[in-house]
Amino acid sequence: MPHARSLRFRQVHLDYHNSPLIPDVAADFDPDAFAGTLEAACVDSCTLFAKCHHGMSYYDTAVGVRHPSLKFDLLGAQIRACHARGIRTPVYLSCVWDCHAADQHPEWEQRGRDGERVGAKPGEAGWRWLCLNSPYVDSLHAQTLELLQGYPVDGFFFDIVFQAEPGCWCSWCRESMGRLGLNPDSDDDQRWHSQAVIDAFMERLSSAIWERRPDATVFYNGRVRQGMHREAGWMSHAEIEALPTGGWGYAYFPFWARYARTLGLSILGMTGRFHRSWADFGGLKSPAALRFECGSMLANGAACSIGDQMHPRGALSPAVYEVIGEAFRHVAALEPWCAGAVPETEVALVLMERASHKTVRNDSDEGAARMLLELHHQFDLVERDGGWERYRALVIADRGAPDPEFTDRLRRYLQGGGRVLFSHEALLDPARGEFALPRELGIRCLGRLEHAPGFFRLRPNFRHGIPDFEWAMLGGGLRVEPAAGTDVLADALESYFNRTAEHFTSHGYSPHAGPAGCPAATWNGSAVYIYGPVFGDYQNHGDVVYRRMVGNALDLLIPDRLLAVDAPATTEATVARQGDRLMVHLVNYHPNRRGAHPEVIERTTPLRDVEVVLRTPFRPSRVRVVPDGTRLAVEHRGGASRVVVPRVEEHAVIAFEP
Ligand SMILES: [Zn+2]
Repeated sequence: MPHARSLRFRQVHLDYHNSPLIPDVAADFDPDAFAGTLEAACVDSCTLFAKCHHGMSYYDTAVGVRHPSLKFDLLGAQIRACHARGIRTPVYLSCVWDCHAADQHPEWEQRGRDGERVGAKPGEAGWRWLCLNSPYVDSLHAQTLELLQGYPVDGFFFDIVFQAEPGCWCSWCRESMGRLGLNPDSDDDQRWHSQAVIDAFMERLSSAIWERRPDATVFYNGRVRQGMHREAGWMSHAEIEALPTGGWGYAYFPFWARYARTLGLSILGMTGRFHRSWADFGGLKSPAALRFECGSMLANGAACSIGDQMHPRGALSPAVYEVIGEAFRHVAALEPWCAGAVPETEVALVLMERASHKTVRNDSDEGAARMLLELHHQFDLVERDGGWERYRALVIADRGAPDPEFTDRLRRYLQGGGRVLFSHEALLDPARGEFALPRELGIRCLGRLEHAPGFFRLRPNFRHGIPDFEWAMLGGGLRVEPAAGTDVLADALESYFNRTAEHFTSHGYSPHAGPAGCPAATWNGSAVYIYGPVFGDYQNHGDVVYRRMVGNALDLLIPDRLLAVDAPATTEATVARQGDRLMVHLVNYHPNRRGAHPEVIERTTPLRDVEVVLRTPFRPSRVRVVPDGTRLAVEHRGGASRVVVPRVEEHAVIAFEP
């Protein structure tokens, strides 16, 4: 396995899916104009198409089929033109989606439980799904070898690398499941088999590539998901495909970046120039949106990739590359402060449950990540069996039953001075109805409170500006008993009754009726517990009091946090270490609502006079806004350096140097 490598920072992923019916593929291609346009837009790596979802190849292939209207070796010409200008060229191969191969070999298509083919049905427009357990893989392997032999490709981007959920019932899969003693009717067995199929596929291709070209980058798209750590050895890096306005949303990238970057892989964020999603030929984002998106990538320790789709005739659009160039000039100017920089983090959001599929999302984990982001904490997402011991504090959101191994590790972590924030049913053993480590965590579970929603009221020393009020806890809560020496931070309140046909009052849930006689939040010097599902409820309802309460809890756990920023919750604030200097990134997020299309960044409202307090192990000799070099006055007191940043457009970086 090659080690995490430094990636090119300014990449374009140049989609090029063309139906065989398109009559004039690459008719307008001019190699010099092509590479010149990329170079002028500061692009330093361009992912080029060897084979598209239609199954059409764009080079002289003996294995695949060249697009019928393409008159020359486009890929070869693109690579030569790019290399002449120092632009790196990984190549793209569509894997599961291949309409041509499906036409030639319908027996290779993935099948559902009913035996019907997966993907576009007969008579429908759309992609056909090939099975990665069928002989189709031999042709992908042969095409990969052909490209390695014939072209100086710099890497491979294998797209659409997944089996249907939960699995495939084609004849090849039924045969291999039978051979392995697996039951095709069991979803769990299907998922296990799909994983084995993908593992074998990646092992075969990665070893073929790295035997011949050890420095090639390799990525399999579709694999960024929980459990990815066991696949990391087959990849050189992780590309996090997230077109924020194309269905992923602006919360997706920071979540998965903070997961993937802990796996020992370099990461690349991938957005698109489109207003909507891929193949939105006539959609173009504002420069502010791309500057924000690239800023967020840099702030999360990622390199940047912007997706485009070239017109079939093979000419790049000048307007598109003007906008991309605006974003990439910003990235280029910041590269000296980002290359080799490592995110500095102190909180781990521990993912206690493994999602069965990448599309299965968890409101509690997403709500927790959203809160930590909005609270400007420095955090990563770590699997329960990952290395969370190195963090100062853990967040365990709403659920996640402990097992003996996790419990042992947690005991040692707490004994060593580690801190934990957990909520609701997190760390609750459902069989015993008791928390793991009740002594160390300072509470015992007595069962579930009767009313949902319920209410809570913060005690004065836990309010910090939050109004004294009977706040709703929408998901209800657990009745817990504090141990001797455990402080109560908030009290739970009952309501009159749950809303049912027999008894309801007013429009919604019933009002509070009096004390429930148990805490809503506790603190014993090591752990803060919150009785309700604050993280999931925050994701679903957005009550800011939940985030403020979590913020107060984290202030107890980490009174000397690494970074504090006086900026709105929409600001993303991160810390990176590069050599012995520290960088603070501020990313200013200002979407507008536009009818049915939810998040559009058109123009940013700048932040002004943002106070930044960073713990620095040195008294800074200078603090500068980079790259322009504006010096900031710095106060250094008690191990922390305070500056005021006069203005933040989409993204600002402040360098603290010893
Ligand atoms: Zn199959």
